[in-house]
Amino acid sequence: MPHQLRVEAARRSIANNDYENAEIYAREILLDLLRPVINGTGVIIHTNLGRSPLEPPHMGEGSFRYSNLEIDLKDGKRGSRNKRVGTMLAKYIGAESAIVVNNGAAAVFLVLAAHAVGQNVIISRGELVEIGGGFRIPEVLASAGATLIEVGTTNKTRLSDYKQAVEAFGAALILKVHSSNYKMTGFVECASVSALKEVGLPVVVDIGSGLLDERAPWLGWPKPAWLKDEPGAMQTLSAGADLITFSGDKLMGGPQAGVIAGKKELVDGCAKHPLYRALRPGNLILDALTGTAFAYLDNRAGDLPLWRMAKIPVEELKRRAHVLGIGQPTPLSAAIGGGSLPGQVIDSFGIAIPGDATQKLRELEIPVIARMEGPDTVIDLRTVDPNDDAYLKSALPNIT
Ligand SMILES: *Cc1c(COP(=O)(O)O)cnc(C)c1O
Repeated sequence: MPHQLRVEAARRSIANNDYENAEIYAREILLDLLRPVINGTGVIIHTNLGRSPLEPPHMGEGSFRYSNLEIDLKDGKRGSRNKRVGTMLAKYIGAESAIVVNNGAAAVFLVLAAHAVGQNVIISRGELVEIGGGFRIPEVLASAGATLIEVGTTNKTRLSDYKQAVEAFGAALILKVHSSNYKMTGFVECASVSALKEVGLPVVVDIGSGLLDERAPWLGWPKPAWLKDEPGAMQTLSAGADLITFSGDKLMGGPQAGVIAGKKELVDGCAKHPLYRALRPGNLILDALTGTAFAYLDNRAGDLPLWRMAKIPVEELKRRAHVLGIGQPTPLSAAIGGGSLPGQVIDSFGIAIPGDATQKLRELEIPVIARMEGPDTVIDLRTVDPNDDAYLKSALPNIT
């Protein structure tokens, strides 16, 4: 711990007339700092635990002091930080061009600020979504300076609804937003991306979760049932979307980032907008994203931690639970999480410990985040890196 933080701990202990326990105060401060934890919740994309599990940085430790972030190594002139990883992602999903910003919210915001400020944006009443509390489509539109024209009804919006609104009010673009975190069933109808092309305005689709290819070839064939309704970046573009936006740290399995991809002219409009400067990522993120893009282009997306965890066979998890030899091996249900694939579960396996051990688990040297199931604390092994099993084996007996 840095000296200043130790001083802080000492002061707190003295202020409480408890100076013999200064170490406890130091531990409290330490627990508040950013640190690695073991995810035993079974929620693979866990927003509170950093969303998608991260791969070690692409450039590797030690060598990464400077990077060619904005220099062109051929002529030594100023280059674009966006081009490299944006070009790779665009290539994989079949877009003319792509740029990266800090997160999915920034991507939607920048598209609207660059292409719809002071103008109307048409959106279905069934797609006025709220994602994770702070991100509400009507509010994002308003703060980007666009005017929302809502069409259709909650459950049904037809192509004719969009056409009538365009005739009556005019608009800069049509926005479609994927209902990432909820599901509508029953009498539901919406206009497809390819149908919306007929209106003649740019069609922007916020697909949200960033599944790059709907077929998910990295998961084998046939693709798992829990992935069945998720739109892919590739497929949304080939259906005719002019621009799409998505997060880097949901179903793409990369670091926190947002991607804007599609028609070059529209992507360039975003890159040239003054706000881009405020929303652009730095070299740590671009480096991690390069590793993610390489995995897809090399056809080894299945090796990304996200997909590795999603596809481990239950039998393998069951075997690990028995090898641990702690608690009661037990079948569980895991989830993709991250506000994606609502209601879909993945069969899983883990261990159950009687009583509530969640706090003790969080206080371990490497904190373990578990969940309660009835009277038991459960640790789902689907989200635990197999390399951490040895740690669990050594640390868990002390708390049970
Ligand atoms: C997650 C999500 C967002 C916000 O993305 P962040 O990366 O969390 O900023 C926006 N739109 C949709 C449809 C999403 O699913």
